[in-house]
Amino acid sequence: MKIITNDACTGYFRSGHPERPMRISRTQEKLHAQTDLSIAWTKPSAAPDESILRAHTPELLASLTQSEDFDADTPAHPGIADYARTSAGAALEAMRSARNGETVFSLMRPPGHHATRNQIMGFCYLNNIAIAALEALATGVKRVAVVDFDVHHGNGTEDILLNRDGAAFFSIHQFPAYPGTGRGNAGNNCFNYPVAPALPRAQYREVFSSAFEQLKKFKPGLVGVSAGFDAYANDPLAQETLEAEDFHWLGRQIRGLNIPTFSILEGGYSRDLPDLIFAYLKGLNGK
Ligand SMILES: [Zn+2]
Repeated sequence: MKIITNDACTGYFRSGHPERPMRISRTQEKLHAQTDLSIAWTKPSAAPDESILRAHTPELLASLTQSEDFDADTPAHPGIADYARTSAGAALEAMRSARNGETVFSLMRPPGHHATRNQIMGFCYLNNIAIAALEALATGVKRVAVVDFDVHHGNGTEDILLNRDGAAFFSIHQFPAYPGTGRGNAGNNCFNYPVAPALPRAQYREVFSSAFEQLKKFKPGLVGVSAGFDAYANDPLAQETLEAEDFHWLGRQIRGLNIPTFSILEGGYSRDLPDLIFAYLKGLNGK
């Protein structure tokens, strides 16, 4: 399988912030050390303006170079414009790889699913998955679905894909939780599956299964996955119950759709993140 990542994406941090470089560096170490999966490592390039501007306003793109923090969660790191562009570029590369029939995961930061059309927020600067989904629609894919299993609602992806012809969005997330949206469905194409805090794992899987059944009815030709690992029982930012084997199960479910899919990292803040990603990748790869 293909992993799209680079060493440069660990180059920004703020002391005490949970979205930290070790999320990537320790996962890279884990994947280099294992022998279950045969991995082709690929480096991303920056997303072009044309692709970014399908999802975001020119004002948001220009604001990436500002020096004031965007909000209390989302610092104005030096160079964040380049980091964000490269994370979006990795999502584009993942999308193209999926269309070539490859199993692919983008192991990059910053994440993207909270960034709306015109607002940077929630650790997210550019909405990587939405940029990739809109690029797919603009380049010949007729129907694209995005599945978001991060424990937080993908409010930014919903905002960008809302009522877009050819797009559908399925988010399974803890509610109530940050950012406070996603209680019910939105528009004609955004399907939200709110999950009560501390829902037992077996019931959480049933919610995922419902979302996948709804997704199949949409008959997408391509599926993008916002893969967040913060519904894990030991994640410090949420109150859910999933274990590594649930992420393995999720990988297998997504593989079982028999549709080209690409997955990109969103959240996941526990020390066990490398193990959770590894479990998911093994499921995606049919192991
Ligand atoms: Zn999250």
